[in-house]
Amino acid sequence: MSGLQKSIHIKTFGCQMNVFDSDRMESILVKQGYRREADLAQADVLLINTCSIRAKSEQKVLSLLGQLKPLKEKYPKKVIGITGCVGQRMGRSLLQRVPHLDLVMGPDGVERVGELVEEVLTRGRRVLETTFDNQKERSYSQPAVIDKVRPSEYLTVMKGCDHFCTYCIVPFVRGREKSRPIEELLEDVRRLVDRGAKEITFLGQNINTYGKRTGESLAALVDLTNSIPGVERIRYVTSHPRDLGTDLIEQFGRVEKLCPALHLPFQSGSNSVLKRMARLYTREEYLEKVAALRAACPDIALSTDVIVGFPGETEEDFEQTMDVIRDVRFSGAFLFKYSPRPGTRAHEFGDEVPDSVKTERLAHLQDVCFGKIKEENQAMEGQIVSCLVEALDKKGRYYTGRTPHGKLVHVLNAGEACVGKILDVEVSEGSASNLKGYYVGAPRQNRVGEAAKAVPA
Ligand code: SF4
Repeated sequence: MSGLQKSIHIKTFGCQMNVFDSDRMESILVKQGYRREADLAQADVLLINTCSIRAKSEQKVLSLLGQLKPLKEKYPKKVIGITGCVGQRMGRSLLQRVPHLDLVMGPDGVERVGELVEEVLTRGRRVLETTFDNQKERSYSQPAVIDKVRPSEYLTVMKGCDHFCTYCIVPFVRGREKSRPIEELLEDVRRLVDRGAKEITFLGQNINTYGKRTGESLAALVDLTNSIPGVERIRYVTSHPRDLGTDLIEQFGRVEKLCPALHLPFQSGSNSVLKRMARLYTREEYLEKVAALRAACPDIALSTDVIVGFPGETEEDFEQTMDVIRDVRFSGAFLFKYSPRPGTRAHEFGDEVPDSVKTERLAHLQDVCFGKIKEENQAMEGQIVSCLVEALDKKGRYYTGRTPHGKLVHVLNAGEACVGKILDVEVSEGSASNLKGYYVGAPRQNRVGEAAKAVPA
């Protein structure tokens, strides 16, 4: 590294994959001799790892860049970089638009972050790196080198997506699917549990097709992880309904440590909207997968994503979405208004639904969906749930964790010593967003296994 030890700060927007990429970039830079700086304004090198899934996410990044201008004017040697999906999507135009920006890098540049930052520092050049390596079938071979392991850890197993849902920017900013080798992932899992992780969540944009070009599979990864001592819980996200095969479905009734929870986005209940979205399944096929999951694991908790106001969505289309919400009983949901993304096919469709209509539909959807979730959570009052305590919440009020079914729990009587423990918590209050309760008795073993055993294989 050039000169005296320099400090870095990485600010992360967006999904868990970005959190994982930020951890990797930080590890690479720390190994190279940089030190972490908690205060964004004090850091010599400030990287903003970004998300471009919705217009709003991009606006947040651009607004932050605007706020950083006076800082750069005061300290011209400070390096400011944009990494991740906004960097990939806007590329050179971002450098042109923001003169105080030194580095723009897409998600495929993570492993080169050290040399790119050095290039800015030593040559005083502005740097752009947005190439995809489309030659490799494999993803990077960078293990999860993170020095602070949390009780619940995420592990990116693949990147990119081969689907082209017409509204989605991901294939353009993350490239085609590339999977990491299964042995390397298992090694990462062992390393994480050795250092205190109890729950592993595998991440991929379309995780069901993990390993499809290399003869590996998500089902094999789950089975092999299940046999690693120290792993208490396994999850994965995000599943595409079309690619959720019977091998994966049956695992929910068989694999001891696989949590009875699955995020399965349906996006719309209307077949004509699904077709325009190029989702490659029908409403009926989606409901068949739900039925098969519930046959394999009757208490499985399903969560979903829904987009309202997709171009051309009629009142009748929207009603069909509401029907799915009423029928399926989701335990969690991410509900969004359609946000046009330049470069995607849907951006060219026209036939926009007016924003006022989108807002009205979203409000109705939220009322019904979150109302049902609240009812489900209130029905749990008085029950004992198993909770892996993860951390103090952002406001510093309660220690929080999750049940095997993915419910967020505020453990009202937990202290720092409870972090990393799996506790029995008696639910005192259920709301649309969480459960609150008190832990009872001594810490017990994880009950995921007990739940899975009760279900016929
Ligand atoms: S499957 Fe998911 S990540 Fe891939 S294009 Fe569709 S919405 Fe985007």
